Amino acid sequence: MAGKGQLFILSAPSGAGKTTLLKKVMAQLSGLAFSISHTTRPPRSGEKNGIDYHFVSVAEFQVMRDQGLFLEWAEVHGNFYGTSRPAVMKQLEQGQDIILDIDVQGAAIIAKDTTVAAVSVFIAPPTLAELERRLRGRGTDSNETIELRLHNAARELEAAPDYDYLVINDSLEEAAATLRAVIIAERSRSHRLPTGEPIVLVNKT
Ligand code: ADP
Ligand code: 5GP
Repeated sequence: MAGKGQLFILSAPSGAGKTTLLKKVMAQLSGLAFSISHTTRPPRSGEKNGIDYHFVSVAEFQVMRDQGLFLEWAEVHGNFYGTSRPAVMKQLEQGQDIILDIDVQGAAIIAKDTTVAAVSVFIAPPTLAELERRLRGRGTDSNETIELRLHNAARELEAAPDYDYLVINDSLEEAAATLRAVIIAERSRSHRLPTGEPIVLVNKT
């Protein structure tokens, strides 16, 4: 029988390259699902409802929040974001490993939650100047939004020591290799074997 899945949390200041890294690593690893968050932020061009996010109104978000349907939720850069508790729990029960792309507030909430055990990874840009260059180069956000995200980046970077792992996204190739190694190592931890069951090695014919 498959054991419970492992929950991975990824946080980074906006523009550090988390989405790019995740896409790369998820294409290389099987059995890893991305948790699709709910958000009140409007979709960016190219983003699809139900794939990148579940895009909802503030009223819809508040109903879900008041019904306790979020494992964690937070207000980030002026919008609400939340992780569906039932969706994550169901996938973990099915033995599926899950990645949450959430901010530092959400990660802190899950770290305190005794009903879930997560492995957390912080992704940092090499410098703040490079972060600004990437945010502007992405070309998806207004100047005002970029200023707000840069302003928030300094505070978010302070949370990095609270995470289990730190990955600096300087060279995309190296950062992706490191993130992949973290996931593979965590999947191989002996405590993830079903408790008390001896390892049975079988000869393959
Ligand atoms: P995030 O999801 O963290 O907000 P993105 O993945 O959207 O960030 O990346 C922000 C921008 O930086 C994108 O234009 C992306 O192509 C670029 N980028 C990501 N990683 C790197 C890297 N290692 N070197 C240079 N540019 C990068
Ligand atoms: P973006 O608007 O760029 O997609 O995401 C902005 C920030 O919101 C990122 O730091 C991202 O990790 C965070 N975020 C996305 N989904 C969630 C969520 O479900 N919960 C929390 N707490 N943060 C989220």
